[in-house]
Amino acid sequence: MIQNSMEAVAYELQEQSNGSHLALIYMQNPPVNALSKAVRLGLIKAVKQALADDSVKAIVILSKQSLFSGGADISEFASGDYEPPLPTVLDLIENATKPVIAVLNGPAFGGGLEVALSCHYRVTFAANKVGLPEVNLGILPGAGGTQRLPRLAGVQQALDMIVSGRPVAASKLPGVFDLVVADPAQLLSEALTFCQKVLSQGGLIRKTCDLTIDSSTAPAELFNQYRQGIAKQARGFFAPERCIQAVEAAVTLPFVQGLQREGELFLECMQSKQARAQQHFFFAERAASHVKDYDKTTPVRDIKKVGIIGAGTMGGGIAMNFVNAGIPVTLLELKQEALDKGLALIRRNYESSAKKGKLTAAQVEERMALLQGTTDYADLADVDLVIEAVFEKMEVKHEVFKALDKVCKPGVILASNTSTLDLNEIASATKRPQDVIGMHFFSPANVMKLLEVVKGEHSSPEVIKTVMQLAKKINKVAVLVGVCFGFVGNRMIESYGREANRMMLEGVKPEQLDQVIYDFGLPMGPFTMGDMAGQDIGYFVRQSRQEFIKHDPSYCILADKLVEQGRVGLKAGKGVYLYAEGSRAPIPDPKVLELAEQEALRLGISQRNISEQEMLERIMFPLINEGALILEEGIAAKSSDIDVIYVYGYGFPVYRGGPMQYADEIGLLTVYEAMCKYRDELGEYGQHWFEPAPLLKKLAQQGKRFADL
Ligand code: NAD
Repeated sequence: MIQNSMEAVAYELQEQSNGSHLALIYMQNPPVNALSKAVRLGLIKAVKQALADDSVKAIVILSKQSLFSGGADISEFASGDYEPPLPTVLDLIENATKPVIAVLNGPAFGGGLEVALSCHYRVTFAANKVGLPEVNLGILPGAGGTQRLPRLAGVQQALDMIVSGRPVAASKLPGVFDLVVADPAQLLSEALTFCQKVLSQGGLIRKTCDLTIDSSTAPAELFNQYRQGIAKQARGFFAPERCIQAVEAAVTLPFVQGLQREGELFLECMQSKQARAQQHFFFAERAASHVKDYDKTTPVRDIKKVGIIGAGTMGGGIAMNFVNAGIPVTLLELKQEALDKGLALIRRNYESSAKKGKLTAAQVEERMALLQGTTDYADLADVDLVIEAVFEKMEVKHEVFKALDKVCKPGVILASNTSTLDLNEIASATKRPQDVIGMHFFSPANVMKLLEVVKGEHSSPEVIKTVMQLAKKINKVAVLVGVCFGFVGNRMIESYGREANRMMLEGVKPEQLDQVIYDFGLPMGPFTMGDMAGQDIGYFVRQSRQEFIKHDPSYCILADKLVEQGRVGLKAGKGVYLYAEGSRAPIPDPKVLELAEQEALRLGISQRNISEQEMLERIMFPLINEGALILEEGIAAKSSDIDVIYVYGYGFPVYRGGPMQYADEIGLLTVYEAMCKYRDELGEYGQHWFEPAPLLKKLAQQGKRFADL
């Protein structure tokens, strides 16, 4: 990052045929032209210099990077040093007495777009993208974006851009750009011709702030309808509503008061827990790819072709990821029938995307053509990576890895999608454990963004690096984890199901608990989730883990009894809830409560009223506690990695930043003390399951956070 305003902004004069000058002000703050202090200072200095120079007739703001500007320098947020504030810079630009023209040679986001909006003219190329993504950081554009964009782009377009944070192609923003050239290579020369035209026509100064919005085009109903339209995806989020209010202010208030209102709303957002959480998550996601297991010098293997073993639920979805990225896949099944079924399901998925207009018929065929089915291991002789997604049994995994060891060429990466089995034991079936790694996809594998990359005892740095980088190519967010039962995500979720079941025995109704968790911000509560995934999945896992749970006779006993009665969830029309034919809406079943009462009586558990706070704490705190153990054991390298896993793999609300950030926000002492309280109050059960992790205890007592580690 450049610290010096002279370096961050370059000033050049370009002589015109009549001897006058254009001042070219280049932002040059690699890599993304973030509007750091040095850039803001540099812009002020350069604009003042241009204004003071009588030979300069117009000012052009452009960039020496591939982006016009990526926006605010988020790393400055923590310091609280905003001087000089961006609005001051933009005020200077907008009120300049010479025409100012922004030439966008690349994307402009957030503050970058706000710079352009404060100029008097804007020029770019058609495919260029601009956007105001602040909402994704829990804030809103705070340098006039919410006031200027509606004046230029129209209220509806501005609402869409500001509330969704999504970038839009310049070609779709005729109100924003005065000239949109087709060919980016021609941009600079056409932009300079445009400047000359502006000057030849009298050098009109057009301030965005002077434009008015016809309020009849943006009645109150428009905003209310907009609110209703986004209610589902914005559930629980603080910033989107403030974004709407800011745009409303652009319609109802004069510019200066509108700016003030924007400032107040910006501050409200900036000081919210959600902004802290979302900004934490922004960095967490980026930090997930920084791992210590390899460095710049570690070679990366070329993955040109992939083999996948097993065309079931996971294998099919995994195959689609590679095919979507243009990487050919050979899909292997034991029997032709299973193979045909798997391939037909993939085709159906693509055809359904085509029906929704997401793919053309030709693209469906192109993707299917990249998929080759086989029942013969010899067809894997030319692949560079194999991902195994067969039944979750060690014998079957061994059989597959032995077969792979025989047919695959040297240097092939052998990956397993196992959710629970010991990767090191799987690797031991081969003569090349250094090439074995876990690639734990989440279901549906073609949709879920998360990939847990599991490093085995012998996985080589080269193999780890290749897989971490490959994840990006197939549009996944990879988090590197170590080997243990359930790895990070599923290991932590174990307590979630356990506590939910136990609280039902203690008198909680499933719909009450599900509501508490839904209101916390997860897409659904544990009972709905269990029914959707199939209660039998957990049942089989428990059967194989009796030695770890048999000391607790209450352990998921209700779920076990329900499965034994054939109540395996949605697919059976009954689980913890009942489901009407063809409906996914859970219907509470009094029979389940009766069963809970009987079991509680049998186990000597007294039923009582449990508060919503207790429900939330008993669901969330053991999960966080397990996260602390995972950190202590080095299964996850940093607490932010756990947050990434929970947001992308389990729908943990991003506005809470993930479970570890949530714990940091409420304070580790709160979590620790509550763990101690439940340990002491819940008798033998509490002693088994609520012992605080030593790391949690230590950090709580030192007044520290997981993020401090
Ligand atoms: P599945 O039963 O849907 O599919 C397994 C497929 O493997 C079947 O089509 C089967 O015919 C095939 N198969 C079995 N043995 C084989 C062999 N020796 N050679 C070739 N093909 C063989 O199971 P799934 O849900 O896709 O799970 C597969 C793996 O993925 C398991 O290890 C599981 O733990 C893991 N996983 C599952 C999920 C999930 O939500 N379903 C999530 C993450 C990981």
